[in-house]
Amino acid sequence: MSSPFLETLSGELATLRPRMEAVSWSIHARPELKFAEFHAQQVLTGWLVESGFTVTSGAGGLDTAFVALHQGPEPGPYVAVLAEYDALPGVGHGCGHNLIAAGGAAAAIAVVRALPTHPGTVAVIGTPGEEMGGAGKVKLAEAGVFAGVDAAVMFHPGDRWLTGRPGLAAAHLRVAFTGVSAHASVSPWQGRSALAAAQLFLNAVDAMRQFVPPTARLHGIVSDGGQAPNVVPARAAVDLYVRDRTAASAEALVERVRAAAAGAALATGTEAEVSETGPLYAERRNNAVLAERFGEAVRALGADIGPYDPDSPAGSSDIGNLSQLMPVIHPYVQITDAGTPAHSDAMREAAATPLAHDRTQVAATGLAEVVTELLTEPAVLAAAQAEFEEAVM
Ligand SMILES: [Zn+2]
Ligand SMILES: [Zn+2]
Repeated sequence: MSSPFLETLSGELATLRPRMEAVSWSIHARPELKFAEFHAQQVLTGWLVESGFTVTSGAGGLDTAFVALHQGPEPGPYVAVLAEYDALPGVGHGCGHNLIAAGGAAAAIAVVRALPTHPGTVAVIGTPGEEMGGAGKVKLAEAGVFAGVDAAVMFHPGDRWLTGRPGLAAAHLRVAFTGVSAHASVSPWQGRSALAAAQLFLNAVDAMRQFVPPTARLHGIVSDGGQAPNVVPARAAVDLYVRDRTAASAEALVERVRAAAAGAALATGTEAEVSETGPLYAERRNNAVLAERFGEAVRALGADIGPYDPDSPAGSSDIGNLSQLMPVIHPYVQITDAGTPAHSDAMREAAATPLAHDRTQVAATGLAEVVTELLTEPAVLAAAQAEFEEAVM
């Protein structure tokens, strides 16, 4: 059973819809990369201040982060709705974070409009830099921004409705090769090509692929391939992500990748240096109690949402790290045809349609319902925490 507030929350979200849609479009039209999301931050915090929230911008030492708080008159749980708002190079809002941000803020605003004297604290925490290994949530957690938060909720747009799916652990590596420059025609034998090392390294990674767990993903780009065809490249670099079901497994694969880099360097007379471009993303733990509360709410609103799918193909997110610290949910909301790939031009276009905003309105109502239950029904928070503690042990 959903809470007695679901109908009220649904009405509030209908009222908030035009503003939610305007905020979403505004963010979508001005895609900003990790830690440069100043426009999105301003649009979101402006709306939250108008709605009675107390906003701290630049929370946790990240310029584009924010914490928006609405405190009730009585003590009680501290529940956070998470807003991501960064875009991707090349495909802009091809991950649909404009919908996460606008829908998340709308959900929290709906709660405080429906329950102006709610117990405890409702927060919107703006978590920048989720894409490209930015690890904004990891940095905010390390800075203490999540201290005291009892549970955190968000949704993610996609090509299907699911209460949850796995998120892989991911290491973000840069493999830099250093060789010796020389004229590529007059005296190439005086040079040692860092690009040749990068090529050999990528071939070695390809050769490993058959012999890693089926759940692992190794993928990268040549981020530096030299400067000119007539100069033997003294420097080259590969940016590589190494992912698998658990942090332990991903870390074991990183050791094999390091060996491959050393081998490529040895073969080409160059040197390899492997560094991490950002913190490891931990595997995701979905809180089944809260995910099912979300599922029940959106089902009541007509969404055909499926259960947690352990076999669903997975990406990675810094929500994984947060899920090791507190109960979290990260359900998926269908905004377009099944089979539409994430991180694509097609998903960017899908993230700005009326259908996407219809679905975001439903998802925001679902989040508002979960927040309301966490604030007003002690048994829901207790069950979520019990599940979390059990999984930790
Ligand atoms: Zn993404
Ligand atoms: Zn995303």
